Amino acid sequence: MKILRFSIFIIFFFSLSIAASPIKVVNQVENTEDQLKVLDNTPVVYCSIKDLARVLSTTIYENTEREKIVLYLGEHRVKISAGTSFIVIDDVIYQIPVPAIIVEGDIYLPTNALFKILHKTVLPSVSYIVKNNQLVIIPTGYNIQSVKVEEKANGTIIRIKTLKKFKKKEISAFLHKNGWFYLTVQGGAADSTNILKADTRGIVKKISMDQLEGGLQLAFFLRSEIERHEFYQNKKTREIVITLWAPLSKSAARIKEVKRQWEIDTIVLDAGHGGKDPGTIGKYGTKEKTIVLDIVKRIGRLLTKSTNVKVVYTRDEDVFIPLWQRTKMANEKNGKIFISVHANGNRNRNAHGFETYLLRPGKTQDAIDVAARENAAIKYEESRNGKYKELTYEGQILATMAQSMFMKESESLAAQIQHELEKEIKSQSRGVKQAGFYVLVGASMPNVLLEVGFLTNPDEEKKLRTVKYRQKIAEAVYRAIIEFKKSREYVMAEG
Ligand SMILES: [Zn+2]
Repeated sequence: MKILRFSIFIIFFFSLSIAASPIKVVNQVENTEDQLKVLDNTPVVYCSIKDLARVLSTTIYENTEREKIVLYLGEHRVKISAGTSFIVIDDVIYQIPVPAIIVEGDIYLPTNALFKILHKTVLPSVSYIVKNNQLVIIPTGYNIQSVKVEEKANGTIIRIKTLKKFKKKEISAFLHKNGWFYLTVQGGAADSTNILKADTRGIVKKISMDQLEGGLQLAFFLRSEIERHEFYQNKKTREIVITLWAPLSKSAARIKEVKRQWEIDTIVLDAGHGGKDPGTIGKYGTKEKTIVLDIVKRIGRLLTKSTNVKVVYTRDEDVFIPLWQRTKMANEKNGKIFISVHANGNRNRNAHGFETYLLRPGKTQDAIDVAARENAAIKYEESRNGKYKELTYEGQILATMAQSMFMKESESLAAQIQHELEKEIKSQSRGVKQAGFYVLVGASMPNVLLEVGFLTNPDEEKKLRTVKYRQKIAEAVYRAIIEFKKSREYVMAEG
């Protein structure tokens, strides 16, 4: 099969006998020059895909048996098969005038046709100039990256990720009576494959885009009428945010209801361990249960002093509370955030720093060890029969799924806590991690478990013994809660 195809090619082209020189690659981004390998004796210039991958510093996947190569370009996949007259880019088929040729395990494509397609789709920064036999790579002009549509109780929000701060007059929007809402960004440029893959929801039924002479026009086909629209560019994130307000009459009642659900009016603070369960004990005799109760009370005091949220403590004294009772209490009190505070322990006395956990199947051995230690608290519970399903890997997945609707929020709360602690205290940030904790299972609200530091590290134990350090931790967690609360309530604020 291979031989036959190759012979036809030879017979067909041999008499033309054009000696081909390689394509000159002019990279204007890195200011370098290179050469791209081509086939000899072809009527049009055929370039090598393997060599192209090298030139573009990207990777390929090869299936030699099926004579296929997949070229990875950013998030895009370009599939090339020898002997066929088409290429497949992200599952869309494009026709090329002559078939791809395989020579010594490398596939060659007609250069001009290939780059016409790539330029239009996934490689707008690369052009092939036929008359100079040159491949020119220019800095990409894309400054608009993606579109995200969010449905809210009172309307729909469209978020457009951009790289550039546009002037106010460069962005305009209007609602056409044909049902399309248009946003025009002067000087805007985007890769249509990134824009059009956005999921539509809420009022937005369809998204379309046009790269115009002076900029970019995005068009959104609306499912129903809107009361009004607003847009602005966030100076910090550079995101263009469009709000399409649903007609008021329809949404007023719903807004009220959702607002009540969303409002973070109750925060549950859970001091780990307590009573007969001391938790980790440091070299100087510091007990985890004492340290974390103090920190939790400090967080609570800051909240009560400066906000009107209700603070619920799962324990406010040195008593033993079973793990299952802690989340039960949080749910019964209608908590909107659950934060469990602990201090860490490790056989390695050098281990130090703070980390925040999400309830998810444990990924690393360290995370699993931390969960195992914290879960060990159930050994102090006298009547635990049937209270805990064993947190096997499957059990952890089920528990995680049950609260997946809070997962995104738990993630941002955890990130916020780490972020504030990084600013406030001088210790190592060990990041946001995940593991299976009984104390988080079943919480019907965003929930995280914070390990403030290692009591098994004598230096960190010393720090944790000081009021100043504990107050700093409390202030950081307090600020994280406030930031989280703000960001979650922001959308509803204008309802
Ligand atoms: Zn603990």
